[in-house]
Amino acid sequence: MEKLTIVVPAFNEEEVLNNTLQRLLKIESKLIQAQILDYSSDILVVDDGSADQTWKIIKHYHEKNKSIKGIRLSRNFGHQNALIAGFQAVVASADLVVTIDADLQDDPESINEMINCFAGGAEIVYGVRNDRTTDTWFKRNSAALFYKLLNILGVKLIPNHADFRLMSQRAVKTFLQYKERNLFIRGVIPLLGFSTAKVYYKRTPRLAGKSKYPFKKMLAFAWNGITSFSIIPVRF
Ligand code: UDP
Ligand code: MG
Repeated sequence: MEKLTIVVPAFNEEEVLNNTLQRLLKIESKLIQAQILDYSSDILVVDDGSADQTWKIIKHYHEKNKSIKGIRLSRNFGHQNALIAGFQAVVASADLVVTIDADLQDDPESINEMINCFAGGAEIVYGVRNDRTTDTWFKRNSAALFYKLLNILGVKLIPNHADFRLMSQRAVKTFLQYKERNLFIRGVIPLLGFSTAKVYYKRTPRLAGKSKYPFKKMLAFAWNGITSFSIIPVRF
């Protein structure tokens, strides 16, 4: 049986973290009871330099339940770097890694289906949103524009897939061989090869708290995605 580690980046997520950890624990323990996952399967929260109670909550849960673990970054490094830190921390011990945002806007119940796809031979399973009606008009349209633009610039992305995915240990190891920092992770994953699958789900609104991607950060993220994969802006 495989050991799954769920990696959760968290930046000032005190309002949602309790609920998130309880839900993820429940999902994982069901899979352990059904003997689909190894009993050592766990959850790693990467505290990305939070200034609120996030780290306290992680510590509190870890004291009660050792299958909830945490690492705390020395400052705020951003979502993508928090995920990379998570990968680095778990790659030696986890057979399977699922990354999911702390606000659970991406349906954690899909993890079951992701594991089925892995059992069927996929080493990378993309979570794909098939319904964004709960996102704001602005978020939906700016995301659509972003995918279009990147496509024109020659960056191949999986439409409507962000950073909710399952990867085998082998895929994570290969990914970590990219030594760049500020990586635009979802642009790199399709370049790894391996057999892939997609799992569709409906994106739900954030349970509580505000988006940790204000407009400025979103622009920086998009720009990073473009400049790290395309030389067209340089030519221009
Ligand atoms: N996040 C992070 N560091 C940051 C910004 C965000 O680790 O500097 C995390 C955040 O806690 C969440 C995920 O990245 O788990 C996605 O952020 P959010 O849900 O706010 O983005 P949105 O859904 O609004 O695009
Ligand atoms: Mg979110």
